[in-house]
Amino acid sequence: MYIFDNIVAGSGPSGLVVFSNLKKKSMLLTGETLKKVNSSNIHPKIKLEVDGKTNKISDLVNSKKNKFSIFSTANIGGLSNYWGAQFYNYNIDDIWPRKIFKKFKVYQKNLREIDLIYPAKKEGKIESLKYNKFFFNQVSPPILKKKIRFSNTVKNSKKIINDRVVNFLKIKKNLIKVNTEKNIYYCKKLILCAGPIGNAFILLRSFNKIKYVTFKDHNPRLFFGLDFKKKKIFNSKKTEVTNFHIKKNKKLFAFCIFYKINPYHFNKHLRSIIKISKYFFSKFLFYGQIWFKDEYNEIKINQSNNIFFLSANNFNKNKFYNNFKEDFNKIKIKILKIVNLNFGYGYHYHCLKINLSNKIYPINKFIKKLKLQNEIFCFDSSIIDKIDLKPPTKTFMATSKFLVKNFLNKN
Ligand SMILES: Cc1cc2nc3c(=O)[nH]c(=O)nc-3n(C[C@H](O)[C@H](O)[C@H](O)COP(=O)(O)OP(=O)(O)OC[C@H]3O[C@@H](n4cnc5c(N)ncnc54)[C@H](O)[C@@H]3O)c2cc1C
Repeated sequence: MYIFDNIVAGSGPSGLVVFSNLKKKSMLLTGETLKKVNSSNIHPKIKLEVDGKTNKISDLVNSKKNKFSIFSTANIGGLSNYWGAQFYNYNIDDIWPRKIFKKFKVYQKNLREIDLIYPAKKEGKIESLKYNKFFFNQVSPPILKKKIRFSNTVKNSKKIINDRVVNFLKIKKNLIKVNTEKNIYYCKKLILCAGPIGNAFILLRSFNKIKYVTFKDHNPRLFFGLDFKKKKIFNSKKTEVTNFHIKKNKKLFAFCIFYKINPYHFNKHLRSIIKISKYFFSKFLFYGQIWFKDEYNEIKINQSNNIFFLSANNFNKNKFYNNFKEDFNKIKIKILKIVNLNFGYGYHYHCLKINLSNKIYPINKFIKKLKLQNEIFCFDSSIIDKIDLKPPTKTFMATSKFLVKNFLNKN
């Protein structure tokens, strides 16, 4: 029986950072699966990268009642690299993971290390506008120069296997049995980096006594607007997206992205119409997404006899945000409507919590409760309590980098 020192579950941005820092007897399982699922229920931007029937989705679960789905992508840098792969540093007054870094300087040092491996274009300021208590800062976002893929980080002395973790079992101290779709592996330490969705499923399949799990997702809203003055901001050739960072009383209050018209952002019925008339529409129509401070969805996965169910709650939903278009209109950006999107479309997934015997545990406390803290570790977005509005991938990577260094010092 061959025993790996470490097995990493997950090939998203966190898994890749962790794996590239580990020593020789380590293996990474990408999450790629044998079963083919129909991609019709996944995000249009991700559909661009996968076929109709694909094995690049590790887990997909739909809620018939609420008409939404969540999924975990496999083998293509996880959920990263979509919508232009914006790669943000958080500032000291943003919400960065204080519980993990304690000092902002340590967080910044780790961001710099990530920059060396994954360089990004610099953020550019376009214009600043003020209205009442609001400050609108228009920027062209920092975008990754290259997508996050294996080849960026991984040396060939370690193993990468295209397979998906089904579940795991502790045999004895420092020995974990990992059941995958194709095989059985053994390791001393199993590091979960499968993201809040992937980790949730691995845990649910490993422990029947879990009642349910939850995680948070920033609640996005969609907006549509008209721009008859042909402002260069919405049609700049230099950037696919234009962002606004909106501060209220000097704190980040909303983050919004204006997209260029892309037929694949629309459902299949509208797509062909948009394809034909893209040039015409792009003269005056714009649309994008907006996320407001403290507006999350909480997504819940229940299990019953290995069948999984999905539900979700909106919380901190503030009616005031529906009127926010008036504030845009005052700064002469004509927003017609801001609408709530379906659950699960925020993609800022974080903060996995587990209900065990009616008590709720964050993932690492759950691991301690089951006395697995010497064998099981989790370093990805699942452990982050609260994140800011800007796209969080770089912060997740800095966190993983920091935690894997601590892990190596102790093991
Ligand atoms: C459409 C879209 C747009 C986005 N835009 C941006 C953006 O512009 N900028 C930004 O910073 N962030 C963006 N994000 C968010 C970003 O993708 C996430 O923050 C980031 O991917 C989280 O990283 P992670 O490593 O924690 O998890 P994930 O990326 O979810 O990675 C999880 C990995 O685990 C694997 N896995 C799952 N289950 C198993 C299993 N059972 N066994 C083995 N492996 C498994 C998966 O295959 C995957 O490789 C976007 C996300 C989406 C979907």
